[in-house]
This record gives sequence, structure tokens and C-alpha cells, in this order.
Amino acid sequence: SENLLDINHLKTHFFSDEGVVRAVDGVSISIKKGETVGIVGESGCGKSVTSLSVMRLLKDTPGKIVDGTIEFDGKNLLDVSEGEMRAIRGNDIAMIFQEPMTSLNPVFKIGKQIQEAVELHLKYDKKKARQHVIDMLDSVGIPRANEIVDEYPHQLSGGMRQRVMIAMAMACKPKLLIADEPTTALDVTIQAQILELMKKLKEEEETAIMLITHDLGVVAEMCDRVVVMYAGKVVEEASVYDLFDNPQHPYTKGLLASVPKMRQNVKRLGSIQGNVPSPDDLPVGCKFAPRCPAAMTICWEKEPELEDHKQGRCRCWLYDSELVKEV
Ligand code: SF4
Ligand code: MG
Repeated sequence: SENLLDINHLKTHFFSDEGVVRAVDGVSISIKKGETVGIVGESGCGKSVTSLSVMRLLKDTPGKIVDGTIEFDGKNLLDVSEGEMRAIRGNDIAMIFQEPMTSLNPVFKIGKQIQEAVELHLKYDKKKARQHVIDMLDSVGIPRANEIVDEYPHQLSGGMRQRVMIAMAMACKPKLLIADEPTTALDVTIQAQILELMKKLKEEEETAIMLITHDLGVVAEMCDRVVVMYAGKVVEEASVYDLFDNPQHPYTKGLLASVPKMRQNVKRLGSIQGNVPSPDDLPVGCKFAPRCPAAMTICWEKEPELEDHKQGRCRCWLYDSELVKEV
């Protein structure tokens, strides 16, 4: 396949005494080499669980992948051994999370931790690797990078450590970078710098990027294509141009209407009334029906399929070919 990543019908469910929560419920997403795909939706729609599934980092959660495949570079990641997966993580696939999943080793100097990986994976000699690390630290906005490189993690502030983690994620030139709200906690100047660095990686190394974000401004600036998720499923997919210019799904329209508020860092999407349904108490039909201004009778009875559409994919009875014919 021409895709670097093919997530097919992924189902990641959470099991508890109260029952099963279908956090990710049949999601298919593809990303080509050098492509940036945004994944958007409110909190609790399954975006982060999707990314953790790709990384196979569900161990600390009640989540379990129950169906689907995750093809990366010709391999089903769900079939590889834990050891092989560890080698893929951080090298071919790197990640940036708002709250770092991995932490820096407190007993090693900052630079040494990144440099060893760089020597190993980019086959740089010590001198070139050290310079590369300094350049990376510099490009994520770390002042005095040539000194910080020889400091220990505890000598840095939390914000600085997060930037070090970002530099580390990008230092080995991964084929795929998964970024989950990568810049949310950072100030705007640093945020812009990190996004610039991601763009550079994409342009120079053809790194593919899966970018999970609440910020549609960031999506507009960074993404080629956008996948909109709601209640554990994909509800719309389109090129970034088509999505902003001509959104189809009522949920996407609601998200776009709330852009100005989101840019002011208001977390709640004011213009969509109501809340994301609790995943253990989902509506029978379309999961968005309780909040949808266009809901029809059928919407309450039957869930629409995700169908191909002239500008991508859409899951909504308004665009169902059979229904449209009948009306
Ligand atoms: Fe709204 Fe019906 Fe479309 Fe769901 S299927 S988004 S309720 S119009
Ligand atoms: Mg999240």
C-alpha cells in the first residue's frame, strides 16, 4: 500500500465491572509518507486512545485492542513482539504527548540521553550526534542549548523538560510522529517554534504526522487531511481545504463554528449544545442525535454508516445516497 500507516477497523474497548466501554469502535485511518493528518473532536471521542493503540501503550489503562489491524511500513503492529515494538517506538514511530508518557532518566545528562539514540539510529559519530542534539534543543526554544546539553533533568523546569522530550522525539527523524495536544501547555512563541520544527521534519525527512488537537487553528496551519471523531468513531474525513470550506457533518459544522472561542483557549465548545455522550450510555442511532440541530426520525433509530463522499468520508443520514433518493 502507498500508506505508511493503515489503521483498519480498530476497536479498543475498556473493560470494567460496570461493563464494556467502546472507546474506539471500528476506526480506520490512513496516513501517507510525508502527510500530516489531523484528528479532531472533543475530549472523550477516542482520539488519544487511537494514538495509544497505535503505539501499543494501553498497558496502564483498562483498554484492550479487540479487533482490527494497524499496518505500519508493511507490518501489522498488533503482531510484532513487545521487544520489536519497543524498538519501533521512539525510532520509526515517535510521539509527543502533552504529559510525557516516558520520562527522562534522572541519572544521565540531558544530551547523553538523546545522543545515544542519535548515534545508534542515524549512524552519526559522537561529534556530529552531539551537534545534532544541541541543534534540536535549540530549535525547541531551549536557551543556552550548548550548556543545557550537559545538565541533568532535575536542573530544568517542567516546561523545559517537556521541550527536551519533544526534541528527543524528533531527533531520530522518525517515519511517523504522533503528536497528541503537543503544544497545548506551552506559551505561544514556543508553540509556534515546535510547529515549525514539525513542518521542517515533514518537509525535509518526509515524516508522516498524526496530529491530535483541539485547536482548529493548528489544524488549518499544519494538516493536509483531517479526520473528525465523535463517540469512538470517525464521522467525517476530508482534505483540510474541503473540511474548512465545506464541512458536511453537523458535528464538524459545530466544531468549526466554535473556532474563535477555541483560539481564546476556552476548552468547552460553546456553540454545540450538550455534551459528548457517556461512552457507557450511547444513543441507539446516530451518536450525535441528542445534540444535532438537523436530527430526523431515522437518526434516533439507526446509526448511519461511514460512507465515501465526493470530498472524503461522512457518517450522517443527511448524505446517505439511498435516503437522499427517497426524499
Ligand atoms: Fe444529525 Fe442525523 Fe446526521 Fe446524526 S445522522 S449528524 S443526527 S442529521
Ligand atoms: Mg486526549
